[in-house]
Parts: sequence; C-alpha cells; structure tokens
Amino acid sequence: MVMYRVEVVKKNKKRKMAIILLIMAFILIGLAVFGGIKLAEYEYLAKKPIDFTQKDNNQNNNNSYQGENKLNTQNQPDNNNSNNQFINNSEENGQNNEVNTQVPTENEPLRNIQTLTDEQINAINSIYKSNTKRVFLTFDDGPSSTVTPDILDILKNENIKATFFVLGTMVKSNPEIIIRERKEGHYIANHGYSHVYKKVYENKNKPLEEYKKTNELIQKALNDPTYQSNVFRFPGGSNGGYYNDIKTQAKEILQQNHIAYLDWNALTNDSAGATTEKEMLSNLKSTSKGKNSVVVLMHDAPNKKQTAKTLPKIIKYFRDNGYTFQNLYDII
Ligand SMILES: [Zn+2]
Repeated sequence: MVMYRVEVVKKNKKRKMAIILLIMAFILIGLAVFGGIKLAEYEYLAKKPIDFTQKDNNQNNNNSYQGENKLNTQNQPDNNNSNNQFINNSEENGQNNEVNTQVPTENEPLRNIQTLTDEQINAINSIYKSNTKRVFLTFDDGPSSTVTPDILDILKNENIKATFFVLGTMVKSNPEIIIRERKEGHYIANHGYSHVYKKVYENKNKPLEEYKKTNELIQKALNDPTYQSNVFRFPGGSNGGYYNDIKTQAKEILQQNHIAYLDWNALTNDSAGATTEKEMLSNLKSTSKGKNSVVVLMHDAPNKKQTAKTLPKIIKYFRDNGYTFQNLYDII
C-alpha cells in the first residue's frame, strides 16, 4: 500500500511537471512569436531610410499644404470674382442710390436738428391744436429686437413716419434698430435712461441728466456725434403723480436747455391693462374721439407684441377717419 501511494505521488508529480513544462513552452513560443514580430517591425523600420520616410511624410504634408495653396490660388480668381462682384454690387448700389434719390420714400435723408428754436418748441407745445386731422404715432420704451422691427416693417409698408421715444438702456443693446429708425425717416426722441421713477425724479436735475445720457447713447448708436433728440417724454407723463413738483421744476430746466417735452392725448393702454386687439382699439377710439390732432401713446418694449399685431388696424382706423400721419419732423 505504501509503495503504491509513493508511485501515485510520483506519477502526480510527473504530471504536474509535464503541465508546467507545457505552460512554459507555450509562454516561450508566445514570447518568441511576439518578439519575432517586434523584431521584424524594428528591422523593417531600421532598414527603411529615415530621411526617406520623413521626406515622404513631408511630401505628403507639402502636397496637402500645396493643395491648400492650390485651392487658395484656385480661390484667388474666385476672390477676384467676388471682388468684381463687390465692384459690380457697389456699382449696382450706386445705381440704386440714384434710383433711391428719385424715390425719397426708399431712402430718407438723415435728419438732424441741432438746437430747437423758440418757434419749434412752441410748435411742439401746441401740437394738439390743428385745423386738419392729423395723427402722430408714438412708441415708447424701445427699441426692442422682438417688437420694433415688426413695427418698422408695418410703417414702411404703409409709408408712415412715426416718433420713437427711446430708452437709453434699450438703445445700448439695439443700436442697429436705432440706425434703421433714422434711415427710414422716423423721429428718434428721448425717454430718458432708466425709466425708474425713483431715479428719474430723484431731484429736479435728474430728468435732464437722463436725457443727456440717452442722447449720448443715441449719438453713439448712430455713429453721429451731432445728432440731437431734442424732445423728451417724461416717464409716466409730465403732469401729476407723486413727483409732480420735481416734474414742474425739471420742465423749466429742460426749457432753459432748449429741450421740448411731449405727452399724448390718446392711447391704446398697451402699457397697463389692454392685452387684446379689441381692448386696444376700443381704448384708442374712445381716447381719440372728436380730436383733430392726435398723439397716440404706444409701446415697443420687448413684451409688446400685441401692439405690433394691432398696428395695422390702428392705422386703418385713422385712415378710414380721414387723418394724415405725421411725425415731429413735420411740425418743427
Ligand atoms: Zn415709458
């Protein structure tokens, strides 16, 4: 029994040894194959002239670079063409400009009044008196990118010039709209900078300060340091309310600086309450009824989309009732 056990143990040992040798052999074969491949690669790279490979790569790069150059050179005639197109375009523009000068509504002259005379200020102060039926469409609190372009499109289609009382804070963010307003013959007037009553009416000098700040921003947006807005609209109106005393004193200061101010005598109430076309038209009709000279208060602030939507009906209403459309340039 003992011998048998020894034999079994010996046999097991032999088996184990055989398995270990087999595994080692596999490992060695594996290493040899892997090493051979690596060696072959190394030899291949070593045999390959380094200069040639680099040259090859460079050539490829050069080719591709030259290709870009070629594309560029191929593009150059295109560029030249586009230059030609540009010249052609500017020639066309020149032709267009000639046409436009023949049709003044297409390209309005850029207007600017330096300092208002007493007569001009009087004309604004007596805006509500007129023998003929006339209406001034005015828009406050803009320009906004969401509403003002729609209003400008409608006014352009209807060939109507309006007056925009712009806010300094809005002018800053939408200079291109101010430029468009001016190009299309609208009057850019001044509604101050902050529209925060506490700030605008902090003391009697603040309205003028807000006017000046906004006037500078308009000049900057228009890239015209000579532009003067000349007419101020008090936020909340020039009369009454908690700040009436300050407003009264501020009016004198504005007058001393040859700056006019303008309120309104009709409204859609789009700033407070009216949110539908029906309500706006109803407010407009009731507030303008029986008036020969109408100054309509509306708003082109970012959330006044309904005002733009209602505008065609507002225009139709005044047209149907025999009014002509004017802006401040028509009376000063
Ligand atoms: Zn306002």
